Amino acid sequence: MSAAIRPIPDLDSAPFWEGLRRHELLVQRCESCGVLQFPFRPACVSCLASSPTTHPVSGRGTLLSWVVTHRAFHPAFSEYLPYTTALVRLAEQDDLLMYGTWIDVEPPQAEGVAVIARFVDHDGFTLLEWSPRRDDDTGERREAGGGAARSRPRSSSV
Ligand SMILES: [Zn+2]
Repeated sequence: MSAAIRPIPDLDSAPFWEGLRRHELLVQRCESCGVLQFPFRPACVSCLASSPTTHPVSGRGTLLSWVVTHRAFHPAFSEYLPYTTALVRLAEQDDLLMYGTWIDVEPPQAEGVAVIARFVDHDGFTLLEWSPRRDDDTGERREAGGGAARSRPRSSSV
């Protein structure tokens, strides 16, 4: 994967990227009101309490929406076209949404599909991808470039 599209963690998002590196999916939890949130922010979006903590989630959810990108916004993404970005409703909280690359070669056909997070290791960083979930699926890890689906980029901002 091109160095031009590797994630650049900031102060808020660094714990998320470090979690992915350990194959752990993290969101933030407000210790004041208990709300879970993503993306990472310096304060709770519900009650504005500062310093929400990191909180592990299952990596299970349902597909809410998706977009298929046909035109590269940066030349480094050209080789991956077309690619699909999924918006997932996480199982832990109804309004807890997370995005990432859709792992299947074909775009999804319907919302509400059960999905599971996959961790794709690259040289020095790990990306999150989503794929359909079978009943017995525990979210096995995947190596970059392995399997039937190729590794695709995602937005570097969280
Ligand atoms: Zn709060």
